[in-house]
Amino acid sequence: MTANNLQVWTSELEHALQRMPRRERLYFRPRLIKLPAWFASGYGAWTLLGVVLITDTQAGCPADVRRYVVGHELGHLCGGHQYLQYLWILAQGLLLVGAAVAPAAALLGLALICVAFVGFVHPRWNLEREFFADRIAVELYGPHAMVTSAVWMSRQLGDSHTSERQARLQQLDSYLHSCPTQITDRRVCNLSG
Ligand SMILES: [Zn+2]
Repeated sequence: MTANNLQVWTSELEHALQRMPRRERLYFRPRLIKLPAWFASGYGAWTLLGVVLITDTQAGCPADVRRYVVGHELGHLCGGHQYLQYLWILAQGLLLVGAAVAPAAALLGLALICVAFVGFVHPRWNLEREFFADRIAVELYGPHAMVTSAVWMSRQLGDSHTSERQARLQQLDSYLHSCPTQITDRRVCNLSG
């Protein structure tokens, strides 16, 4: 990824932050980091502990896909989904420390891990988090570009056949037919970059 490329992503993130719906405003400024190519190949973007991570390949994606990724990852941050990650780390730390010094503390750690497991791994809750993140992307950029960008991403990732991706695409598609006064951006998606 060239410096220019990174600049484009950073300014897209800044622009999105300024346009966020008031009720979804973030209390901190997220950072965007590009993962080294040797560490992660192919397309991919994640939010980890409040930081948006993208692969080198993802950095070169078309403009509307970039907006979808930025909007979607900001959606995860708006939803506070990173706090589940903090909870997971806390639970692991408690378990390790507790096992060494006090079995009772280890039991508490295990209980927290169980809570984190249900919230973090359960497919139904995971899907709800993805719906939420996609909704924020739609609110920022409109449904049409987000639907086509999600289809584009699923083709790159090769997961269009999975039930989760199908559910997310259907949910996104439903925004195309929802209240037109809430969603005003119906511009034609430009996937040329
Ligand atoms: Zn997501």
